[in-house]
Formats: sequence, structure tokens, C-alpha cells
Amino acid sequence: MENSEIDALRDEYEKQLFDLKQLLEISKSLNSTLDYGILIESILYIIMGQMRVLKAALYAKKGIDSTRFSLHRNYKGFDIDHEHDYGIPDDVPAIRLFARETRCWTLDELRARFGDLGGLEPLESMGPCLVVPLKAKGVINGLLLLGEQILSDDFSDYDKDYLLNIAILASIAINNAFLFEMTTTDMMTKLRMKHYFYTVLVEKMEESAFSEKPLSVIMCDIDFFKKFNDAYGHSCGDEVLKSVAKLIQNQTRSVDVAARYGGEEFCMLLPDTDSATAWRIAERIRTHVEGMGVDYDGQRLSVTLSLGVAQYDPDRDLTAKSVIDRADKAMYLSKQNGRNMVSAAR
Ligand code: GH3
Ligand code: MG
Ligand code: MG
Repeated sequence: MENSEIDALRDEYEKQLFDLKQLLEISKSLNSTLDYGILIESILYIIMGQMRVLKAALYAKKGIDSTRFSLHRNYKGFDIDHEHDYGIPDDVPAIRLFARETRCWTLDELRARFGDLGGLEPLESMGPCLVVPLKAKGVINGLLLLGEQILSDDFSDYDKDYLLNIAILASIAINNAFLFEMTTTDMMTKLRMKHYFYTVLVEKMEESAFSEKPLSVIMCDIDFFKKFNDAYGHSCGDEVLKSVAKLIQNQTRSVDVAARYGGEEFCMLLPDTDSATAWRIAERIRTHVEGMGVDYDGQRLSVTLSLGVAQYDPDRDLTAKSVIDRADKAMYLSKQNGRNMVSAAR
């Protein structure tokens, strides 16, 4: 073998070794979080860095019972019209094809196959250069869209192979995050469950004690909830629960955790929030619930909440239970003082 050939072979092996090490790093990074939002953000940044593209987006399902892929709001670079619905049903011909043929696709290749985009028409206006299916356990659980590469006109075959390797890691990570979300979420209200709330509260208490940033907890309980069940049946009670849960979710930030604490009790943890601010948020939730009304069986039912607020105090609250108990006691004070009210823990 000529020296130049040996040099070329060595360069090629070095590149492959480098890329393998990169894949190992990507795998570590994607396995280090089960948080859906953070995960999707990291997948997009990894893809943009590795493939040198300025545009990247990810389609995923929003919930376990969803039959559509939605464009995740963390997309980068693509020109999106917010009035437009970019959703894709999971049974269109292109998605069925992706489950059988694992490869990257250009829109032109899809047109050549189907005559049209095989159900991926919502992608047309975004004009991605490449569509990469994410497949875990034989099922498509997402789509990755890439814009043009900064330094070249076309993705090489090597790039496409490499992308498929990243796609495998990404789809497994998405699947794990999805399963985690499923097992920590209350199916009826779509809020987190109590044990998840506790776990995050313990973490946030440590962060707060270290950073000296405030952290608050809100507990709330629906007033005279039993009367909805007794007067109109259990399904009416369920409707009330779902409406209150939805309102709580809409009234909290993505960094907050809202959970169903028990039957008709909810709790929230609010990082970087002191007691006075938490009280205002609780009061805002209280007035919104009071004004909302729940439509059931042709009637408008009025619902109210009693709430309690406590700010984490590292000197007094040695456990998560302690701060929750203080918020709970404040909530009972609201009950005793006439309900439909917010009280702060002392
Ligand atoms: P208070 O103002 O003192 O809180 O009165 P309340 O009627 O809300 O309180 P109580 O704790 O007596 O009643 C709560 C009821 O919530 C009892 C239980 O049957 C009902 N419940 C618990 N979980 C569910 C559920 O998932 N669906 C429905 N429909 N009812 C539930
Ligand atoms: Mg209760
Ligand atoms: Mg109650």
C-alpha cells in the first residue's frame, strides 16, 4: 500500500473514531434528562451543532392518547405562521412508510414515492431540506426536520448515516421521557402526581437553600366538592376536577410544578417566588376559578377554592413534608374563615 493511501485510511478511521466518541457524548447527554422540554431542546441543539444547520425542528406527540404529531414549540430558525396548524396524523402514508424504511427523506424523494407528500403537506411551507424519522421499538415517535447546511448544498451519505444514528438515540430518549411522564401524570387531570411533586420539591428546596432564592408552595382544595358528586353524579365531579386542573395549569409557568395532591386537592411549587408573590398568584387562581363556572348537563355550576400559601424556610422546613404541612394548615385556615379565600402560613 502507498504511503498516501495509508494516510487517507488513517484520516478516515480518525474521523470515524471522532464521530463515535461524539455519539457516545450525545448518548450520555440525552440519557441525562427525562424532562421532555429539556430533552427536545438538547436534541435540536445537538443536531444543529453536529450537522451545521441553522434550522431544526421536532415533531412529537403531545400525550399518550394523542394520534397526531405536533410541531414542538422549541423549533429553531424555521419561519412559522402561528395561525397555521402544522399537525400531522400518525396514520398518513408517509409515516407508515417511515416505520418500514428507516432512512432520511427529502421532500422531493417523498413526492417521487407518493405523487404528493404522503400526508406531510403541513411541512411544505417550512421547506425542510431533510426529514428524519425517529423510531423506537418499531414505532415512529417523532420527526426531525433540518434546514440547509451552512457549508454545503447537500447532506452527504455519511451525514445521513450519522443522522440516523443520532435519530435512534433521540427516539429512545423521547420514548423514555414519554414513559416517565405517563407514569408520573394523573390521567384524568393531566397534572403531575403527588410522588413526583415531592421528588421535585426536595430538589428545589436544595437549590433554593444553596442559591438563597425563594421557593413557595400553594395548596388548594375545592370547596364543598362533595355536593357536585351528590347532586349530579360522579362524572359531574370529574368535569369540575378537569376544569380546575386546566385553569391551574394555564395559570402557572412552565418552571412551576402543578400536581393533583389527592382527590380534589391540588398543589403547586413555584421556584424563585416569595410568599407575597405566591399569595398574589393564589389569589389570581381563586378569582379565575370563581369566575369560570363549569358547564354540566345544560347548567352552569359555580366552583370555588380555598388556598394556602407557604414560603420554604430552610431554618424551619427540614423536610418537604414540613413546608407542605404549613401550606396545608394555611389552606384549612381559609376553610375555617369561610372558604373561597387565600391564607398565608406564618
Ligand atoms: P370542603 O369544602 O370542606 O373541602 O368540602 P368537600 O365536600 O370538598 O370535602 P370532602 O373531603 O368531604 O369531599 C371530597 C370528596 O371528593 C369526597 C370524594 O368522594 C370526592 N372525590 C375524590 N376523588 C374524586 C374523583 O376522582 N372524582 C370525583 N368525582 N370525586 C372524587
Ligand atoms: Mg379535600
Ligand atoms: Mg374540598
